[in-house]
Amino acid sequence: MRFFNILIMSEQENKIYDFLIIGAGCAGASAGMYASRLNLKTAMIAEMPGGLITSTHLVENWPGIKSISGPDLAVSLVDHATSFGAELINSKVTEVLPASPDAEGDKKSGYIVKTMSGEYKAKSVLFATGTEHKKLGSPGEKEFENRGVSYCALCDGAFYKGKTVSVVGGGDSAAKEALFLSQHAAKVYIFVRKDILRAEPVNADRIAKNDKIEIKYNTEIAEVLGSDKVEKVRLKSGEEMQMDGVFVAIGHNALSEVAEKLGVELNDRKEIKINRKTETNLPGVFAAGDVSDTEFKQAITGSAEAVTAAYYASEYVGNNEVVF
Ligand code: NDP
Repeated sequence: MRFFNILIMSEQENKIYDFLIIGAGCAGASAGMYASRLNLKTAMIAEMPGGLITSTHLVENWPGIKSISGPDLAVSLVDHATSFGAELINSKVTEVLPASPDAEGDKKSGYIVKTMSGEYKAKSVLFATGTEHKKLGSPGEKEFENRGVSYCALCDGAFYKGKTVSVVGGGDSAAKEALFLSQHAAKVYIFVRKDILRAEPVNADRIAKNDKIEIKYNTEIAEVLGSDKVEKVRLKSGEEMQMDGVFVAIGHNALSEVAEKLGVELNDRKEIKINRKTETNLPGVFAAGDVSDTEFKQAITGSAEAVTAAYYASEYVGNNEVVF
């Protein structure tokens, strides 16, 4: 596994960026690489560079690379962006505000991007903020987080050598988590609340052939139980099962709070509404990747969307007088 080796804290908070990218996951880093090559003064701001793909064991659907670990792909993407001059600012964005809300006519307002470590000015902004793991909301989940309840098999799976674990969820993430866990655990249950597992066919086949994995359909956890750490789960049917670990893979919530506060339009799933140019309802504000309202969400589609954003941001910056 490789690590991020470039973390540049920007020393010049007052310089004006052409394109400030919030996020440095697959989408953010791809936008960073393209925008730098388009000669935009670009920075990516991220608290955790790499994004959610860093918690994926294997990525096998990135064109041109048959198989790569999620962390390695993330590091390559960020390295690629910084190699062309994009800065990486290691901080958390707390607010984005229009710099000149009264700008009219040909003049467009720039944006002030506030972070935990300083403020930055940007002519255009990309929200590539991604998503966070959804929580089950069952009693015991919060109490036992990091003591048997996990949202990342890649991060925690090795602690369950020879143990019994369960994965909650019925999508491709749950399937991939279960396959990874089966390399360590003695037994892996997948609890699917409906009667169908909606995994990619290739992963469904692997599960069918894996003796360690058992799918329990129409099954939901009512409570996670234990003393110091997880010891068992009680299902909604009333059945109790001995369990050493519970991995939750039930989908994601869009990280769109900062965008919403700025006035960016969201859909009812709190995803940012974009058009085919990745423009939002606000001038100079773009969104791409899992935080956008695009239905088919994959690392590669998010990446492509972000590249589109970089292109239209360069047009926007070139064609408009942006004021602060
Ligand atoms: P999905 O939204 O596809 O699936 C979530 C699953 O969790 C559903 O089966 C859902 O059940 C279930 N679920 C939701 N809430 C609960 C709950 N409270 N209790 C029990 N079960 C629950 O999420 P995924 O994370 O699996 O996938 C998201 C997207 O990311 C997909 O498009 C997938 O293809 C993609 N993906 C891409 C990867 C890549 O780029 N390489 C890797 C992994 C995923 P129900 O059906 O009943 O709602």
